[in-house]
Amino acid sequence: MAESANPASSLSPDMPAAIGHTPLIRLRRASEATGCDIYGKAEFMNPGGSVKDRAALAIINDAERRGTLRPGGTIVEGTAGNTGIGLTLVANARGYRSVIVMPETQSREKIEFLSMIGADLRLVPARPFRDPGNYVHVSRRLAEETGGVWANQFDNTANREGHRHTTAPEIWDQMGGRIDAFTCSCGTGGTLAGVTLGLEDCAKQAGVARPRVVLADPEGSGLYGWVKTGDLSISGSSVTEGIGQSRVTGNLEGLHFDDAVRIPDPEALEQIYDLLIHEGLSVGGSAGINIAAAIRVARAMGPGHRIATILCDGGARYQSKLFNPEFLRAKDLPVPGWLA
Ligand code: PMP
Repeated sequence: MAESANPASSLSPDMPAAIGHTPLIRLRRASEATGCDIYGKAEFMNPGGSVKDRAALAIINDAERRGTLRPGGTIVEGTAGNTGIGLTLVANARGYRSVIVMPETQSREKIEFLSMIGADLRLVPARPFRDPGNYVHVSRRLAEETGGVWANQFDNTANREGHRHTTAPEIWDQMGGRIDAFTCSCGTGGTLAGVTLGLEDCAKQAGVARPRVVLADPEGSGLYGWVKTGDLSISGSSVTEGIGQSRVTGNLEGLHFDDAVRIPDPEALEQIYDLLIHEGLSVGGSAGINIAAAIRVARAMGPGHRIATILCDGGARYQSKLFNPEFLRAKDLPVPGWLA
């Protein structure tokens, strides 16, 4: 079964076929500020509202192909929320059940939405990856104990293969093959690695060099150091959800990125507020990290370049946090004028 089947202009036989084929939108102010053309892939327009619908579908398709996921089966996963939403919706469409383990610190909106769509939701305290109580390990054990299929999005490379075969060629085609750079943050690394591999495939086929790929990392993540020096050194913290990583996941293994930028939260939040109020696009914090990184890359490359990035999910998923003056003040973050 295809990872995603039909262009937006044609009929979709079912929900999973409607995943992907998202618009690539020119970000006017980011483009004008840099003299470049900066485009955002509108992944918030997927049926489950995020880029993770693609990974969810790719992982379920792969498990079906392998024969591990059978009719009436259960898919189990640890997630910051968006993968859980994608998995649960695709599971609903295909007749599976989902068990979703999530740190209780994630946004109320994602937690409530997961309950609403029928996930068997298990909230756990936030713990570092080295702790056996970390949500990823809890989900692995739950899958083992219950005979469910563990999606294992961090190390299961079906995740990046999904992006390699859908997100990347869509971006390449939408930009007419004229793309100088791509910026992307990383949670599992599926999007970053998959798009990198896919752009490499497209460039090779066209006989041109791969676009420059720059990791966009929040504070509190080790990957910036990993790309820059090979050391997973961690400092600071971020209010963004779903991104930042303390280890080289299976999806990142074997990949080489051209550079990395580390974006502080205020710089990312400024981008999402600006985009919302001046361009009518409501996106979440990781999209802000991605856009801020695209702007930095555009400034470094100089005018006239064409840069793509990912608008991972929508702002409504963070209404109680990134768009809530009380939360922002408590975190010492600036409150945008119209919310103050
Ligand atoms: N942004 C958001 C909002 C996410 O939920 C995620 C996934 N956790 C990402 C970005 C990162 O995507 P990936 O897992 O493909 O690295």
